[in-house]
Amino acid sequence: MNMLTNLMPLKALIFDLDSTLVDASLAYKVAQESVGFKDEDAFFQACRQSVKHRLPQGHTSAHHRLLYFKQWLEQKGLYSHSAALEMTAQYEVTLQKSYRDQWEALNRPQLFNELKEKYVLAVITNETARTQLLKLSSLDPKSHFFKIVVTSEDVGVEKPHETVFREVYARLNLQPQDCVVVGDDIDNDIVPALKMGSRAVWTTEFIQKNNRPKVPVGSHAIDRLANLPLVLQEISRA
Ligand SMILES: [Mg+2]
Repeated sequence: MNMLTNLMPLKALIFDLDSTLVDASLAYKVAQESVGFKDEDAFFQACRQSVKHRLPQGHTSAHHRLLYFKQWLEQKGLYSHSAALEMTAQYEVTLQKSYRDQWEALNRPQLFNELKEKYVLAVITNETARTQLLKLSSLDPKSHFFKIVVTSEDVGVEKPHETVFREVYARLNLQPQDCVVVGDDIDNDIVPALKMGSRAVWTTEFIQKNNRPKVPVGSHAIDRLANLPLVLQEISRA
């Protein structure tokens, strides 16, 4: 790191949400099962894929479970407006519960109470605003921790597009070099953060050990988010 880094203390931490704050795959699995679909449900997966293929690439609505359930009900000949909405509501309630349970079990309140004393905390995430606010409202109902949330739906493009990052820097009223981006996805979180001029911390907490790529040059890696304060100290001293 250069001299400049020493002169500019870190001011903000920008977190990816899914599989960074909690294990999103686990929550999605439980939520999907709550409406009757096992992971390997091929017919449901086909409905999901057909929704995704129909939409323009990178369109936020490709994440929308309501569209998957609607398509599934239509293809099964079970469609009604209320059935599509009821499945979505059941799914959302279970998803929220899993996020909340994991957040508590992982002791995240303690970690984020510590972090918020030193840094402004923001979230930058690819998904619909509604789904991400449902998750965040179950972790942090009063925005006690995360003051700023930018979803791909807010800006119309997804990470790794630099527009998403520019939006969060602008809302923080900070330069990229004042910020650390923390995420689990090398292509969507780490590479663009470094390119923009932020520091980057790659968390592998929910990535299988035998499935982990090499730590990208210029970033720091942690295997538990709980180790973030330590690595932030290192970054500040570098
Ligand atoms: Mg993620």
